[in-house]
Amino acid sequence: MFQFLQFSFIDVLDILLVAFLLYNVYKLLKGTVAINIFIGIAIVFLIYKVTEALNMEMLSSLLGNLISGGAIALIIIFHPEMRKFLLMLGSTNLKTKKNFIKQLKFLKAEIAIDLDVETIVNVCEKFKSSKTGALIVIERNSNLEFLQERGDLMNVEVNGPILESIFFKNSPLHDGAVVIKGNYIVATRVVLPLSDKQLPSRFGLRHRAAIGVSEKTDAICILVSEETGEISFVVDGEFKLYSSSSELQEKIRMYLS
Ligand code: ATP
Ligand code: MG
Repeated sequence: MFQFLQFSFIDVLDILLVAFLLYNVYKLLKGTVAINIFIGIAIVFLIYKVTEALNMEMLSSLLGNLISGGAIALIIIFHPEMRKFLLMLGSTNLKTKKNFIKQLKFLKAEIAIDLDVETIVNVCEKFKSSKTGALIVIERNSNLEFLQERGDLMNVEVNGPILESIFFKNSPLHDGAVVIKGNYIVATRVVLPLSDKQLPSRFGLRHRAAIGVSEKTDAICILVSEETGEISFVVDGEFKLYSSSSELQEKIRMYLS
């Protein structure tokens, strides 16, 4: 029963190589959403191997099937990344291992986001303390051009002072929403579509507009209430809860990646 405990040199090499591979995949995916998928797969695979070694036939065949099905699911989920990976493999002359690993980092770079999330959240914190109303719409996959046309076009890189001056109460630009694409403010004074949803009466038009745009597109909305100073984060037509400004930053990054 315990013959699997006998090790040969090849086994050691095998384990070391797998560990090296897993470590590099982990390093590559750390800080991205894909890491959860990776950890999930690693756990299922580990349990599968244990059940197989212990000859637990039912469980191991069940998990074996799950894993082979899962491989197909993975190919579908990571199809664009895999294609790039294979293209890269084919076109590289693997001079040094270091060079190769460096190239692997493209995966991470692609998941990295353009938007300066920290600046946005810090500005909202300022709005919170000064009770300045603000409404910021951040583009994801849905194209927001139809919204830009309903406001004034702009093309300025995101930065704190500009956002502050836009939403400054006496500024001519402060009404309506700002649309952000990548790390650029592309429109101000945008009138957003309103939601028809039943909302508590303390929420007025600004909140209704944030819900409305996030129902009709996949954009994310951050708004600061003029009345309470509260910062709300709206995605998919719902308020998303968060407990601190660093958690808010993390959530925004998660939705953008
Ligand atoms: P607050 O808590 O800040 O008062 P609220 O949800 O109660 O927000 P209102 O008091 O109705 O909302 O806020 C009005 C402001 O919301 C307007 O000055 C305008 O800037 C903005 N607003 C209203 N309707 C829209 C819209 N359709 N699109 C974009 N912005 C809007
Ligand atoms: Mg109000």
